[in-house]
Amino acid sequence: MSESSRGARSKPRLTVVGGGFAGLTAAITAAEGGAEVTLHEAHRTLGGRARTAEAEGRYRTNDGPHALYNGGAHWAWLRTRNLIGRLAPLSPVEALRLRLHHRGRLHRLPPLGMLRLLGRSPAKAPIDADFLGWATGEVGPTGARAAAHYAAVALFHHDPGALSAAFVQERLRRATKLPPEAHYPRGGWSSVIERMAAHARDLGVRTETGARLDRLPEDGPVVVATSLAAARSLLDDESLSWPSGRTVLLDLAVRARRGDAFALSDLDAPGWIERFSALDPTLAPAGEQLIQGQIPIGPGQGKEAGTARAEHLLDLGMPGWRDRLTWRRTSLAEGRTGAVDHPGTTWRDRPAIDRGDGVYLAGDQVAAPGVLSEVSFHSAVEAATLALRSAGRGSATGNGPGGGTGGGTRDGKDPATGPRDRRGVRR
Ligand SMILES: Cc1cc2nc3c(=O)[nH]c(=O)nc-3n(C[C@H](O)[C@H](O)[C@H](O)COP(=O)(O)OP(=O)(O)OC[C@H]3O[C@@H](n4cnc5c(N)ncnc54)[C@H](O)[C@@H]3O)c2cc1C
Repeated sequence: MSESSRGARSKPRLTVVGGGFAGLTAAITAAEGGAEVTLHEAHRTLGGRARTAEAEGRYRTNDGPHALYNGGAHWAWLRTRNLIGRLAPLSPVEALRLRLHHRGRLHRLPPLGMLRLLGRSPAKAPIDADFLGWATGEVGPTGARAAAHYAAVALFHHDPGALSAAFVQERLRRATKLPPEAHYPRGGWSSVIERMAAHARDLGVRTETGARLDRLPEDGPVVVATSLAAARSLLDDESLSWPSGRTVLLDLAVRARRGDAFALSDLDAPGWIERFSALDPTLAPAGEQLIQGQIPIGPGQGKEAGTARAEHLLDLGMPGWRDRLTWRRTSLAEGRTGAVDHPGTTWRDRPAIDRGDGVYLAGDQVAAPGVLSEVSFHSAVEAATLALRSAGRGSATGNGPGGGTGGGTRDGKDPATGPRDRRGVRR
């Protein structure tokens, strides 16, 4: 047997379930590590929540992500591989049109207490205390409440003040950094997804779309890069859950008007509205503006509660929008906006990446660090690295940019309700 055919035969096989940001990251990482990768995606197109959909053939709407934070390790990883593409820059004029809704009126600047809080390192914020209690002790109740509500832009939760202080402070700092961390891929995130998919193909990854798996393949390691809810049923493991947000999304298009706010942040309650076409005119036809409101609501609330709050903010920041409306759509993102950590918990307590028996989890609600899709990225790199290792390739610990996420719960054990093997037998 020739050296090359021996090499080809010894290539480990790896399956990735899910073709969103996590699945594509895992597939690329595994293929770069020398594996023969097959990726199964249930939908007819790749991207998952990072898909950019065409509405009425005119508006390019993002289901999930808009912003790519350049402080995250995914930024460097994508950039090294030339996968980010063109960005849609925010002009200084539009940047000055950010308005903050506080005590019923729009302001250009946040309350002083909130500004003071931005200087506090997340390392100083306790894991075990709630954000509102800790921040109130630091800067008083007005600044603390405003800061909690502002942070909702990066956590999509109806009560950010009740979450772990360390968790919220990290997001607050990253969402308010100057120059801003948030960057916007031109044409929406699907442009990044298309480049990732092409790169995966070039590396030999076999991609099957419209291919929902209802059981795990048994030949070789598997990276399950679905939502945590889908992983729960695929692995038949009830322990796979972690809290997330519940957010009303109000997408609308209006005829353009000079002087509309670029973004409206509600400091009286969690909520954010952004005119995304101000950055990226390719999202809407000429003369129109594409806007999305993201208004978190509590467990007992209906969509109308979020919609009413969004409309009130629009009345203040984009006067006359009702008469200029050309299209609108309301939806509810439930459990789709990434993990949130309550006091006493960190990312290390979320469902572990390594499920045993050659099965690895990736996604934005598993045990990996980062903000929003960065959790998907870190866990995907870790899962693929561990999968390669189990197949006899790769280093002993995750070599991901996170330096190895450990992949375990804090005590390193799974709950009693924990995983079954691939045939459904409880281990
Ligand atoms: C409103 C909103 C705003 C957001 N804003 C941002 C932002 O600004 N910045 C940011 O970084 N992140 C943001 N996020 C988070 C970001 O969208 C997610 O973290 C990221 O897209 C998750 O990617 P994923 O691959 O882990 O999961 P998904 O995108 O959910 O991908 C999972 C894939 O698995 C597939 N699948 C499921 N079951 C099966 C099966 N049985 N067989 C085969 N395939 C299956 C699904 O079809 C899907 O394509 C936002 C999310 C939302 C909802």
